[in-house]
Amino acid sequence: MKILLLCLLLVTASSFTEAAEKMNICETGKMQSPINIDTSTVKRLSHAEKIISFYKPVFFKFTIEDGSFKAKPLIDGNVLIRNGKPYPLQEFHFHHKSEHTINGQPFPMELHIVHKSKDGKQMVVGVLIEEGTENKEFKELLSSLKTIQKGQSKSLQAPINLNELFSSETDVYRYVGSFTTPPCTEPVLWLIKKEPITLSWEQIQAFQHLVGTNNRSIQPLNEREISLTKIQQSSSK
Ligand SMILES: [Zn+2]
Repeated sequence: MKILLLCLLLVTASSFTEAAEKMNICETGKMQSPINIDTSTVKRLSHAEKIISFYKPVFFKFTIEDGSFKAKPLIDGNVLIRNGKPYPLQEFHFHHKSEHTINGQPFPMELHIVHKSKDGKQMVVGVLIEEGTENKEFKELLSSLKTIQKGQSKSLQAPINLNELFSSETDVYRYVGSFTTPPCTEPVLWLIKKEPITLSWEQIQAFQHLVGTNNRSIQPLNEREISLTKIQQSSSK
């Protein structure tokens, strides 16, 4: 019995250590996100890397919890293909204010579209958001924030087509980073859309009102390089 207890204690202690080490990456990781993108240092990627988006209109269900908002697709089929390898869409969420900055400039919000391959590799498309015209793709989602309480989920009545946020070829800043929330997992391949999209003032206010401020501060770049590459839209739009 004593030995069993000791084993249990050891197992618990080691999983605590593991969890602590994982949490620690937020503090000690050398590839943390977000970062500031200094555009004067960015070079167009010279070697061939092909990223193709296969996005289509699908229904999403979203959930609001303390400081977090997540929209998950109700069916599969949205996927990014990088050099032939599929990265299915997991979820998208917003941050207020933006997490990444461009030449030191923050934006009112940032969209993160999270993808994961079958073998667990992470790729996130970041889209900076500035105030401007209303975004039709997120219209129902953002207006329904008024009718939802924290901790609740809601399925949307209209599908969202992420293709509408991109053109046939979209320039993106590319670097290797991490998740911006614990456990701050590294590595994550980040693709930050060069041109921001717009939400109306009302749409930004609706999000801010319910979710509040949920952006992580800028992390050291260390030895990392930022390059410019593109996402190509599949022709079957
Ligand atoms: Zn995020």
